[in-house]
Amino acid sequence: MIPDDAIGALGAMLGERLSTGKSDLALHGRSETWHAEMPPDAVCYPRDTEEVSRIVALCARYGVPVIGWGTGTALEGHASAPRGGLTVDFREMAAVLEVRAEDMLVRVQPGCTRGALNTELRATGLMFPVDPGADASLGGMAMTRASGTTAVRYGTMRDQVRALEVVLPDGRVIRTGTLAAKSSAGYDLTGLFVGSEGTLGLVTELTLKLHGQPEAVSAAVCAFPSTEAAIETVILATQMGLRPARIEFVDAATAAILNAHDGGRFEEAPHLLLEFHGSDAAVAEEAERFGDLAAEAGAGGYRWATQAEERTALWTMRHRAYHTILASRPGSTAVVTDVCVPISRMGDAIERARAEIAASPIPGPILGHVGDGNYHAILLVDRGDPAELAAAKRLSDGMVAHALELGGTATGEHGVGLGKLHFMEREHGAAWDVMGAIKRAIDPEGIMNPGKLVRQN
Ligand SMILES: Cc1cc2nc3c(=O)[nH]c(=O)nc-3n(C[C@H](O)[C@H](O)[C@H](O)COP(=O)(O)OP(=O)(O)OC[C@H]3O[C@@H](n4cnc5c(N)ncnc54)[C@H](O)[C@@H]3O)c2cc1C
Repeated sequence: MIPDDAIGALGAMLGERLSTGKSDLALHGRSETWHAEMPPDAVCYPRDTEEVSRIVALCARYGVPVIGWGTGTALEGHASAPRGGLTVDFREMAAVLEVRAEDMLVRVQPGCTRGALNTELRATGLMFPVDPGADASLGGMAMTRASGTTAVRYGTMRDQVRALEVVLPDGRVIRTGTLAAKSSAGYDLTGLFVGSEGTLGLVTELTLKLHGQPEAVSAAVCAFPSTEAAIETVILATQMGLRPARIEFVDAATAAILNAHDGGRFEEAPHLLLEFHGSDAAVAEEAERFGDLAAEAGAGGYRWATQAEERTALWTMRHRAYHTILASRPGSTAVVTDVCVPISRMGDAIERARAEIAASPIPGPILGHVGDGNYHAILLVDRGDPAELAAAKRLSDGMVAHALELGGTATGEHGVGLGKLHFMEREHGAAWDVMGAIKRAIDPEGIMNPGKLVRQN
């Protein structure tokens, strides 16, 4: 509980921008997936860095947990409040502050979403490429080190964040990084905060790298006789220097669901969905060379779309796939796996996961960003059936154990939150204790997003 004095002081500072309304609390305690609702005691909507600093300093004085909130799309209960406290929702700090076109940089407030930023950039010839499927906030994306379909070409949030402004757990405001493209000046604090899931401080401003909008874009789709054949094609294409902007895998089960529930026209087989960015000539050449490789691997029905409408239809379907899969089993919720393995082992990993899911009582279509070795099984469980949830967690744990054996990670892009915490020791060993030491050094009272990422006391 937040002490009455603290609520009084926050109310005096924020007026109606402090809420203790039931629906507001419930909304900020919910996760997209299977995690139980864990609401905070209050939610606030600050308007600038100075206000965030005063809020955090006040919470520090009273020992109140502080949880950052972007758009709440993180999948592992990251922004829930297992110990109550104050959720700081950044929806009123969503401005694009400065576009530095010549430096190919932009300064934004953390609540700005990737969609809003790209709309603002449309006339500049520049774009922000990281695309996690949901229209997430850039602050939240930095905090989960998000990536998605385009990481294979443009990289993840780790590669895009040039500098940050952060409010530390005692209310101090620091800046990490500069506008310069590189620096050898000391510890890389920007890299430390990216992926910290709000456990070290609240981000109040980001300086992000931008990229040129491609002159031409084309998309392609093809069906493969097996998962192995699809993955082998991806490996060969990468070795030959082809650089698609997206290479997405969908398995036969996903293809069947897209056909039945979203008007898809896929063969019931594993597919690759691709997008190429570049000049007209480069895009045509890459698409053709990829088509040749796919044909050698026995792929059929290679369709190549240069028209914007066709491309949009394909990628809209891919972006909606998570919700389409959920809707294919009404009333279900999902345990979403997110392992990432060296690409050479990906065929094995997916096939083993597929066999284990087939032998289980629950459905689990698989799709993923195969250019990076990252894939997701969407394990659909009946909300009211603990046996199904237990089966899904067993499957998920098995996939992670296998990924770790292969030299991979428990989470390629979704992050730790509550759902992946129990894998941290196995993945990092003694390095996890180092993360705990860093947390204690920056947040000795443990008020920032408690219960997440580091060993709990
Ligand atoms: C349909 C669907 C598809 C998805 N696909 C992908 C995908 O392909 N790739 C991918 O990477 N993710 C994916 N995600 C997950 C999600 O979109 C990402 O994790 C995203 O980065 C979360 O952003 P958000 O703004 O919703 O953050 P939130 O969920 O609000 O917060 C995420 C974390 O960041 C913290 N936080 C938020 N803002 C701040 C701040 N300003 N300062 C400090 N801490 C803060 C929160 O406390 C929390 O720990 C998907 C989600 C959905 C629903």
